[in-house]
Amino acid sequence: MYDLIVRHGLAALPDGVRPVDIAVLDGRIADVGTVTGTAGRVIDASGLWILPGGVEPHMHVENDFLGLSTVNDFFTQSVAAAFGGVTTFFDFANAERGGSLIEAMDGRKEQMAKSAIDYAVHGRVLEPGHITELPEAVLAGCPSFKVYMAYAEVGLMVDDATLLAAFRAAHAARALPLVHAESDPIAAALTEEARREGDLSWSRYPDTRPPLCEAEAFARAARFARLADCPLYMVHTSVAEAVEEARRARQAGLRLYVETCPQYLILTRDLYDDPERGHLAICAPPLRDGRDQPALWQALADGTIDCVGSDDCAYTIAAKAAHLECDPDGKPIPDFTRVVQGVPGIETRLPLLLSEGVAS
Ligand SMILES: [Zn+2]
Repeated sequence: MYDLIVRHGLAALPDGVRPVDIAVLDGRIADVGTVTGTAGRVIDASGLWILPGGVEPHMHVENDFLGLSTVNDFFTQSVAAAFGGVTTFFDFANAERGGSLIEAMDGRKEQMAKSAIDYAVHGRVLEPGHITELPEAVLAGCPSFKVYMAYAEVGLMVDDATLLAAFRAAHAARALPLVHAESDPIAAALTEEARREGDLSWSRYPDTRPPLCEAEAFARAARFARLADCPLYMVHTSVAEAVEEARRARQAGLRLYVETCPQYLILTRDLYDDPERGHLAICAPPLRDGRDQPALWQALADGTIDCVGSDDCAYTIAAKAAHLECDPDGKPIPDFTRVVQGVPGIETRLPLLLSEGVAS
């Protein structure tokens, strides 16, 4: 007598995709195949997929950016996640300058305790003080940490010396750095140029963070990690040139994990051409022109890209426009530097991958 039998569902097994029964006893899979016997509960999954619970490695919840808070708390986020097939999610301990990484981790765990699903915390390193706390963070069950190569203007960026020091410390502490790879000098110079030319429209935004902005930072991080002999997890990879860097780095022996997001697989930058709603799609890296998408799908299929995280960072429509100034008629004046970055996606991640990656 099993606790649960799910019958006739499609499962991806080592020998291919086929319909199976799955029996569960005491919270564990007890049998897979043609299951005889009875169970307290039987689910007929004919014509449906049976998937393991999804893990969301990348999201931002109860997070302030530009003084604006994301729309969900950890409870409502966890409900959205569960509807999207996610049973475990990670957020970041937002350690601040002058503050402790360990204290930020502990505070984040308390905030996340209201989640209806399993949860875990990545650390964040902004400065050398946080690096010295890495061994303790690993011992406390938090072996991964985020570093930003961009956003100097809001104090999030680590400079090259700190980045390399963090990687060397990660080697020693057996920790895994998660890297936001965008070149701050490139983004800053092109944003300044757009400002000088008086064009801060939504459609100009992706030109200020072009594919080279990501590929340059990706390559730099990969080479630093090879030097430091630490593994590396690259978040939200969005361009073919970065995928090429990933292949090169792996050939050189780097233990590398590459993430992309549904928005880069599916959406394109023409959304920014809508003057009324284009700002709702502002995220970083920006949406691309579509030429990168075949390479991303191919990299996902051949294993160069390991996983799809949502980078869910959901703001209300009002929050996306909150810092815009208005003209005398009350219409918002486009200025992408005043729009908080981020798009939602935790609930739609798995359905989109099934519809766009498997069914179509
Ligand atoms: Zn993110």
